[in-house]
Amino acid sequence: MSKWTVAKFGGSSVKDGAAMLRSSNVVENNPDIRIVVISATQNTTNQLEFVARAAQRGDEATLHSLVNELVQKHNNIANEIFSSPNVFTELNFLYDEIKFIGDAILKDRSYSPKMMDLLYSIGERMSSLLVSDLIRLRMPGMKVTLLDARDVIKTSSDYQKAEPQIDLILEHAKELVFPHLNKDSIIVTQGFIGKDLLGNTTTLGREGSDYSAALFGEAIDASVVQIWTDVPGIASSDPRVVTDAKFIPTLSYDEATALASLGAKVLFPTTLLPTKRKNIPVFVGSSLDPKGGGTTVTKEQDEDFKLKAVSILQKKDYAIVSFIGCHLDRAESLVEDLKLYFGESPVVFYDLTSVSVSFKIIGSENTPVLLKAHEILVKKY
Ligand code: ASP
Ligand code: MG
Repeated sequence: MSKWTVAKFGGSSVKDGAAMLRSSNVVENNPDIRIVVISATQNTTNQLEFVARAAQRGDEATLHSLVNELVQKHNNIANEIFSSPNVFTELNFLYDEIKFIGDAILKDRSYSPKMMDLLYSIGERMSSLLVSDLIRLRMPGMKVTLLDARDVIKTSSDYQKAEPQIDLILEHAKELVFPHLNKDSIIVTQGFIGKDLLGNTTTLGREGSDYSAALFGEAIDASVVQIWTDVPGIASSDPRVVTDAKFIPTLSYDEATALASLGAKVLFPTTLLPTKRKNIPVFVGSSLDPKGGGTTVTKEQDEDFKLKAVSILQKKDYAIVSFIGCHLDRAESLVEDLKLYFGESPVVFYDLTSVSVSFKIIGSENTPVLLKAHEILVKKY
């Protein structure tokens, strides 16, 4: 294991000049961070999708106003953080690229997933350009390199849900990343994007920047992968619904994976695969309060039975409410007890694993069931 850290900053952590400055502070205060992985600024990926759709509809007015919004947003940030003149020049090239793709779609009234991936990539390329320049300004002793993630994150050609090619990623990381793994260097790069073997831009799936950070972490055998967001870690339930949700200090890979795949939005579901392969801890924390702690995900399992979180997953005709924890298969009466606590609520046992117990809810509103499940978690366990 190397001693280096990979730090990923999500869209909310780079949403404006102040957020970028906070994120840059995190990097300044963590001398082991060698690779900084940046998402597109908040909502930019959606806006790029709207650009494509407006062009497809032939709605030129909307297309132009969307492009203008993107230009304004990024120019404003560049002004806020006193970007160097060459950043404005580079941004202009990226704006031209958006316009060029927009015009091509407008002309054909259609776009392919491959084109969308190229368009998506501009979001991360704009934000990483801004952040790399800011870090260079703030850390004058450091050699800051803006790395095009597409030169390292090699993938299949499944546009919009590309599969990373682990061996090739390692090979390219050896050439392009390893030389920078020393205390005087920082690499700033993009999350979410990669390149296939034909040289076309690909993406790992919406919200895929966490996965990129984990892949870089795996390639350099990082000591930790940090995911910086706007909440202090992974919560015991969705804090927007359950107001007394608590942040969980530690989770095992299996618990966190179960939580991500059973409806919690905090980590991209496949993020933990590369880190688990190399046994690298993943820390999730808030760039608004970097010293405020967060959740650490490791291979460590708690010794005893424990319920830690509840989540809900909406399927087409039903929802699944799940309790996540450890050694759940050891608790003999767990399923019966939980059903009892739910009382009259229409829940039906669905599945039990060592880290999750799930119930199916048919024809009922999700929010009250999730609230009830969280109440059971807090009061009975
Ligand atoms: N920018 C991409 C998205 O919004 C990827 C990410 O932020 O994780 O889906
Ligand atoms: Mg995100």
